[in-house]
Amino acid sequence: MRVSIFGTGYVGLVTGTCLAEVGNHVLCIDIDQAKVDGLRRGVIPIYEPGLEPMVKANTAAGRLSFSTEAAEALGHADIVFIAVGTPPDEDGSADLRHVLAVARSIGEHMQRPTLVVDKSTVPVGTADRVRAVIAGELQRRGVDIDFDVVSNPEFLKEGDAVKDCMRPDRIIIGAESEDAVERMRGLYAPFNRNHERLVVMDTRSAELTKYAANAMLATKISFMNEIANIAERVGADVEMVRQGIGSDPRIGYSFIYPGAGYGGSCFPKDVQALERTARQIGYEARLLSAVEAVNDDQKRHLFALISRHFDGQLRGRCIALWGLAFKPNTDDMREAPSRTLLEQLWAAGARVQVFDPEAMDEARRLFGERADLRYCESSGQALEGADALVVVTEWKAFWSPDFDALAAALGGKVVFDGRNIYDPDQVESAGLAYYGIGRGRSV
Ligand code: NAD
Repeated sequence: MRVSIFGTGYVGLVTGTCLAEVGNHVLCIDIDQAKVDGLRRGVIPIYEPGLEPMVKANTAAGRLSFSTEAAEALGHADIVFIAVGTPPDEDGSADLRHVLAVARSIGEHMQRPTLVVDKSTVPVGTADRVRAVIAGELQRRGVDIDFDVVSNPEFLKEGDAVKDCMRPDRIIIGAESEDAVERMRGLYAPFNRNHERLVVMDTRSAELTKYAANAMLATKISFMNEIANIAERVGADVEMVRQGIGSDPRIGYSFIYPGAGYGGSCFPKDVQALERTARQIGYEARLLSAVEAVNDDQKRHLFALISRHFDGQLRGRCIALWGLAFKPNTDDMREAPSRTLLEQLWAAGARVQVFDPEAMDEARRLFGERADLRYCESSGQALEGADALVVVTEWKAFWSPDFDALAAALGGKVVFDGRNIYDPDQVESAGLAYYGIGRGRSV
C-alpha cells in the first residue's frame, strides 16, 4: 500500500518505518526542513533502540522517503496519517494547531479518495473537526472527493517504540464506516497475524481510549508515590509494600514503581488535557486533578531530601546527577523530573555535574553553557569533586556501581536514589548515607 505520514517525530517516524518494513511504500512529511534533510542523509533525529538500521534499510530499499511537501503526500498515497504533536495549550488543553493545519493541507491537496488516519493524541470530537476542516477546503476548491477520517491512537512507548509498533498489544480503530475499518484491517494485517489485536469502535470512544489509558497509568504512578510518602513517614519500606501488593493479579507488578514523578511528552499533557475536556463539559475530574498534584509534588521530592540532608545549605555544593531523560532508553527530556530538580538545585546555589547515556545533546540544547552546569562524558566523571550523587533515571548502566569507589569520590558521602534501584544496606555498608523514595529510614 502507499501511505503518507504527516509528522516525523517519535510516533510518525516509527510508524512510517514499521509500515515500510512490512512492504508498504511510505512517504514521511515534516515541516522541519533540517529534520527531513537529515533523514534523507540517514541522520535519525531521535534515539530509539533498533530504529536507525530499519530507517536505513527501508530507505535503501526505496520503501521509505522523506519530504516537506504536503502536495507530494497526497499525490503519493490514499492512506494519510496525522502524527503531529499535540502539546498542551496555555490552559492545559490539547493544542490542535498542528493537527488542524495538517487537515487543511490535506483538504488543499487531496486528489483522489483518501482515508485520513489520526494517530496524534487528540480530544474527543477531533475527528469531526478534522472532517469539517477537510470538507471546508474541498468546498473552497469546488471539488468533490470522497474521504473518511479514522481515529487510530498510538500506544507505543518511547524506548520500546519499534517493538511496540511491530508487535502492538492492541490496535484501536475508531471509525464510522465499514469500508474504513476494512482498509485499516488490511493495512494492519501484517501486525495482526498471531491473534486478533484490532479493537473496533466509534471515533469518540477511540479518542477517549487513548486518554483513559494514559490517565490510568499516570494514576498508578501517583498512587504509588502517595503510598511512598506515607511509607516514608510511618517508617515502612515501600519496596516491600510494592511487592506485597503486586503479587495480587488484580493489581499486578507493572507500573507501581515509586520514584521521582512521571514526565515525558504524554502523561503530563494527556492527564491535563483530559481534565480540561471534563471541565469543559461541566464535570470536575477530581481523581485526575489529584494525580497531577501528587506528581507535581513528587518531582520536587528529591530536592526536599537533598536540601534537608544538607540543612538547606546548598550554595557552593556540587551535586552529581545520573540520568536526565524522563525514563531509560530515550533521549527525551520533555517534562523530565531531572529538569525540575536542576532548576531547584540552581536556585539554591548548587553546581551540578550531569551524565546521561543518551540525553546529553538534548540537555545541551535545553540549557546551553552555564557556570553551574558541567556536562560529563561518563558516570564516573560526574562524580569528580561532587558532594552527593542523585540517580534520577534508572538506566541499566547505573544499577551496579562500585559503592566503595562512590564513597571515595563523594565528598558528602551520600546517595539519593530517586528510583529505588539500590539496596540501602549495601550502599550504607560502603560508608554512604542512603536516601530512597518511600523507604522509611529516609526520615
Ligand atoms: P514529536 O514532537 O516528536 O513530533 C511531531 C512532529 O510533527 C515534529 O517533527 C514536527 O516538526 C512535525 N509537524 C508539526 N506540524 C507539522 C505539519 N503541519 N506538517 C508536518 N509535520 C509537522 O511528537 P510525537 O512524540 O511523535 O507525538 C505525536 C503525537 O503522538 C502526539 O499527539 C502525542 O501525544 C502522540 N503520542 C506520542 C507518543 C510518544 O511516546 N511520543 C506515544 C503515543 C502517542
